[in-house]
Parts: sequence; C-alpha cells; structure tokens
Amino acid sequence: MGFMDKIQKFLPERFRKKKDPSEGLKENRLKEKENIKASFAVYCNANHDTKDGKLCPKCTALLTNVLLKIGKCKYGITKPLCDHCDEKCFGDTPSKTFMEIMEGSRNRMLLHHPMMAVRHKITGMGVEYAKQKQNDAAAQKEEGRMKAKAAKARKRKARKNPK
Ligand SMILES: [Zn+2]
Repeated sequence: MGFMDKIQKFLPERFRKKKDPSEGLKENRLKEKENIKASFAVYCNANHDTKDGKLCPKCTALLTNVLLKIGKCKYGITKPLCDHCDEKCFGDTPSKTFMEIMEGSRNRMLLHHPMMAVRHKITGMGVEYAKQKQNDAAAQKEEGRMKAKAAKARKRKARKNPK
C-alpha cells in the first residue's frame, strides 16, 4: 500500500480517490454468494441428515439455481440481498424454500460464521434502509400527484361555476 493509499481514509470524502462502483458490486455479490453457500451448508447439515458442509440433492439443486440467478439479477448495480428481496426470481416455491433456509440458518450462522453473519446483517440493514427511503420517495411523489390532481379539479370546477 502506497503512502497516498494510506492517507486516503483520513481525507474528507470529496478528496478521496473515486472507486469504480462496479468493483464494490462484484465484491458484494461474491460475499453474498459465500454467505448463501455457507447458510445452505449450515441449514442442510442441521436439517437434512447431511454433514461436513455437504448438501443433499434438493439443496444442491436449489443452490445451483440461486447462484445462477444472482448473476442475472434485474436490479443490476442496485441489487438488494436475495433474502431481503420481494422478487421471486427463483420461482414461487424455490424462493419460499430459499427464504426458509436463509431464515432457518440465521442463528447457526452466527455460531459457525460469526463475521459473515454480522456482515450480512449490516448489509441487510442497509438494504432495508434504502428500501424504506425508496418507499418514502414513492409515497411523496404519489402525494404530490394527488395534490396536483385535486388542484386541477378545483380549477376546472371554478371555471365551470364562475361567481
Ligand atoms: Zn438439504
């Protein structure tokens, strides 16, 4: 690490070297895939009579499908975490099973892969926050639209019934 790299973190945001956003994305996807793989292993070993991180045929099939779909996520750069996503892109039933596995492995993940679990939790909180902000913005836009509509209607009424 060069001197300039070392002082980067002490500089105010606007003086720092700009990172390529797609770089962070690649890393995020990689980390999410790692997390999903570990969650499946933990869950399958605890529930499907398997061991040593090996998966039963059903979990193997689902995991393969999941890892494939992650690469094709329609959200691209704004991709949320799969277990925080409302899109059922693995298919209805597989998506439900996926959620069950991610949910069901949460406590064991903390035990077996604490760092990974905590990082996933923090990222998840970020996703929830971004979702909330998006919803707020959408609600505000809708409110503005309704107000404009009401104002228009009032004007129309006033034109129809001049005093
Ligand atoms: Zn299994």
